[in-house]
Amino acid sequence: MATNTQTVSNANDTLARRRQANTTLLMHRQQEVYAKLPQIEDMGYEITALGADFTLARLAKNEERAAQLKQQMSALEQQRKALLVENGFAADYLDPIYTCPVCRDKGFADGKICSCLKQEIVKQRQNMLTSLSPAPQTTFEQFSLEYYPDTTDEHGINPRRQMQQILTYCKKYAEGFSRSRRSILMLGTSGLGKTHLSCAIAGECVKKGFVVMYASSQSMFEQFESNRYDTQNILNDILGCDLFILDDLGTEYMTAHGLSILYNIINTRMLNGTPCIFSTNLTSQKALTAKYGEKIVSRLLGSCDTLYFVGEDIRFKKR
Ligand SMILES: [Zn+2]
Repeated sequence: MATNTQTVSNANDTLARRRQANTTLLMHRQQEVYAKLPQIEDMGYEITALGADFTLARLAKNEERAAQLKQQMSALEQQRKALLVENGFAADYLDPIYTCPVCRDKGFADGKICSCLKQEIVKQRQNMLTSLSPAPQTTFEQFSLEYYPDTTDEHGINPRRQMQQILTYCKKYAEGFSRSRRSILMLGTSGLGKTHLSCAIAGECVKKGFVVMYASSQSMFEQFESNRYDTQNILNDILGCDLFILDDLGTEYMTAHGLSILYNIINTRMLNGTPCIFSTNLTSQKALTAKYGEKIVSRLLGSCDTLYFVGEDIRFKKR
């Protein structure tokens, strides 16, 4: 399971690669120009030397000398630009290259995180979600109600109408998403679209810049059981993210250790008021209690809006 700390460090790596690539590009440009116009290389050295003297003059508070040096520098720079243009290069051909001029590819400007780094973090989070979720590209638009029977059963339930309501609920949930949103419990047998709708909500939230973590119950508990993963780090990310999705509860092999982790997740996020989306194929309170116990189930039902998915297995119908 990828962690959130990892997405931030991946984003920083991307900026570092950008800086490296721009430096390399500038070096190539210098070589190209210097081969043709060696005097420009000398001008470059001269400008650098003047720059050093300028800094020293400023430090010595010799403003007159500093002003003089500055003037010399800019005159020389003008000369260099003119020479470049004369020889068919762009005037700024040897200027430092920045992908983001605002922060000069540092990721921070005026002590604040720059929008380019923010964008990169969102992109990394999308990648993270993509690598974890079984249905990363699913959207609300792709959710087709035609697979649900438009007939009313003996209990007065019309699957298509009910699923229409659930779809509307989920769209609104994603639209108005915030860290203080209520949690959702999706109940229903396999193949009724629970994963599809939770991933569609996740996709919308990620687009808005929220940190979303997705885990299928089976793989999450397997990872917690194995020693290969750092339990506390993963748990911290799960507890701290904006939206946590735990898919397919009930399919995992549950141990006492697993139960205590599940309780910790539900309880901590409930106390913090941060939302989760749980989905399960255990469709009755009795079945849920038999697997997870009273304490977990009462918290689950108490903190979630419950959505009952109905119909026939749509994966079978689509085939
Ligand atoms: Zn920037």
